[in-house]
Amino acid sequence: METKMLASCSSCGCTKEITAYGGINVGERPELKSRVKDGSLFVWECPSCGAANLAAYQTIYHDPNERLLIWLLPEGTIPEAQVEAIGRQIEASSDFPEGYVFRRVGDVGSLIEKVNIFDAGLDDTVMELCKYVTKMEMSEKDPGKAISGASLKFYRTDGPDNDIEFSYPADGRMQGLRIGFNVYGDCAGILRRNPSMKPSPGFSVVDQAWIARFFR
Ligand SMILES: [Zn+2]
Repeated sequence: METKMLASCSSCGCTKEITAYGGINVGERPELKSRVKDGSLFVWECPSCGAANLAAYQTIYHDPNERLLIWLLPEGTIPEAQVEAIGRQIEASSDFPEGYVFRRVGDVGSLIEKVNIFDAGLDDTVMELCKYVTKMEMSEKDPGKAISGASLKFYRTDGPDNDIEFSYPADGRMQGLRIGFNVYGDCAGILRRNPSMKPSPGFSVVDQAWIARFFR
């Protein structure tokens, strides 16, 4: 499901025809997964000024092995009122039997994070709680730290103890943050004991705003 679309350079306004992927099925085309994970599938270079641009179009990422469907829908692409109806239509399709996870994200960075989380065999609702408590702890320890307002993204697990690595932007570059896997385990326990803390059915948005709702 590849189409051509015109994109304009964010730096000089010059337009270029780029390839847009209406659907990214990594079961059929496994080579696309690494291009999603490193973001290169969405980046195009301006032929006129050389600037690297991020293509903003909607697409559906489908991993049949993980039974995962992530709808990348940049804000304003379609009216909010239609989003739910379209989502329900897709869900009802016989291509996606019981057990599928449906998620909706608004930007490429969030899509990459979701793919990284599910690839690591982890649960994104638990991960959001992990990020929430980590940020809370960090800002209690050091209230002035840049991390308080930053958006943490899960990057990978690493080392013999499966430490969790986050990345976040600060001082104009990406910083890393590492926490013990025990935090993930604790958060998984909290979610198990609080069954109301689960995403709504359908293409739910599971992000920091979603988890924050349970702590008001
Ligand atoms: Zn340009």
